[in-house]
Amino acid sequence: MKVLKFGGTSVSSVETVKNISEVLKKTSEPQIVVCSALSKVTNMLTEAAEKAAAADVSYKEICAQIEKRHYDFIDELIAKEQQGDLKQTIHNNIASLEKVLEAIYFLNELSQRAYYIIVSFGEKMSNAIIYRYLSIHNGSVNYLDSSQIIITRTVNGKEHVNRSVTYKNIQDNWNENYKITVAPGFISRSENGYATTLGRGGSDYTAALYAAALDASLLEIWTDVSGIYTADPRKVKNAHPLEKVSYKEALELSNFGAKVIYAPTIQPVLEKNIPMVILNTFRPDDKGTLVTNETDNSKTIKAFSTMDNIAMLSFTGTGLVGNSGIAGRLFSALNDVNVIIISQASSEISICIVINADDAQKAVDAINSEFDFEIRKGTINKTVAETGYSVLAMVGEGMKNAAGLTGRAFSALGENGINIHVIAQGSSELNVSIVIKSEDSENALNVLHKAFFN
Ligand code: ADP
Ligand code: ASP
Ligand code: MG
Repeated sequence: MKVLKFGGTSVSSVETVKNISEVLKKTSEPQIVVCSALSKVTNMLTEAAEKAAAADVSYKEICAQIEKRHYDFIDELIAKEQQGDLKQTIHNNIASLEKVLEAIYFLNELSQRAYYIIVSFGEKMSNAIIYRYLSIHNGSVNYLDSSQIIITRTVNGKEHVNRSVTYKNIQDNWNENYKITVAPGFISRSENGYATTLGRGGSDYTAALYAAALDASLLEIWTDVSGIYTADPRKVKNAHPLEKVSYKEALELSNFGAKVIYAPTIQPVLEKNIPMVILNTFRPDDKGTLVTNETDNSKTIKAFSTMDNIAMLSFTGTGLVGNSGIAGRLFSALNDVNVIIISQASSEISICIVINADDAQKAVDAINSEFDFEIRKGTINKTVAETGYSVLAMVGEGMKNAAGLTGRAFSALGENGINIHVIAQGSSELNVSIVIKSEDSENALNVLHKAFFN
């Protein structure tokens, strides 16, 4: 069997939905189809939730727009006499959504749980439409409700998939007698029964979970570009798709900002050694990028990616020199923060911590509270955060056997007046990351792309 995931833009136009139906007809083995919400709908739902929490009644207009968008799409896609109660289903979803939003409006408060419920409606509605369309054009189709099958558990305030329970649920519920099964992406349920999601971009991960649980022969990720490119094609005009990358390279790129794959997607397929291919729904005949445990060693650097909205924290003071245990306490203080890069100069007088800017205040407070005594003694300085930075990563398994690559990169950046603030190389030598000012980010990406690929 194989699993196919279609992203938001792939399920938003008549042309691409027809392509989906045609793609499914080409294969005789059973297929699971995982779809995202219609493009931009998750953003609209988020906006509606924020408006309601701010006591702004315009959330109602957003609901009306979302409803109309789905109605129009149904009318474009499915003849009136074949629509059945599909519009009623959409209407019922919108009515439930409005109820939750009204509660938020009166409470003036948006809890994490309420947010999960609200954003879930996007995938519920889009998958209902796709299910109906495929039932008309592709024979008998089954439906698996991912919101009851994919199970999460809270760890340090965040939802993580409970893989063993989820895999068992998938195996127990999948019926291989159906050639096609539709299973919505992104949505899940906590062990305690309330609605959760797998995080923004999470439909890729949903598809990987179905693939791993059922030992799929292939996972296809259908999106709006023809594979993993040498850099984000929206930012670098000459970027081109890669034929082949390894799981490790895909993981590194997705961790460092390449949105084409949601990073948690890689682990389940890597563990089961399931090949994954990234394809373009708008150009279904393009070859795309194959992701397996093999890499193409003819290239040293495979791709560049950037991550914006980065903050740098400098942890400094004479108390750091030769004092064991300081780094341990620093890392413990940062337990709840996702640290992207850490670097310490050999003088030991400062440690630089690179994190997402949204976590900056939390991290600064945690560090300053842990080292309150030393700060008062004057041996450690108060940590402050500087924002406005980006991380640029160069990724490729072949980098470990090639000398001089980083030198070449740094010269190219230097010649273009781009200042590097931090450099870090992982011990796997698969990734060299640099921190630069955000205003230089797109220029730096283009400079490096040109230096290595033109
Ligand atoms: P989907 O809705 O199908 O999940 P996404 O918007 O999440 O699609 O991901 C596809 C987008 O990822 C592309 O349109 C592209 O702009 C962006 N992207 C970023 N980096 C890369 C890269 N290295 N290769 C291809 N696409 C990339
Ligand atoms: N609809 C969700 C999002 O926009 C999940 C996804 O598209 O993968 O984040
Ligand atoms: Mg995506």
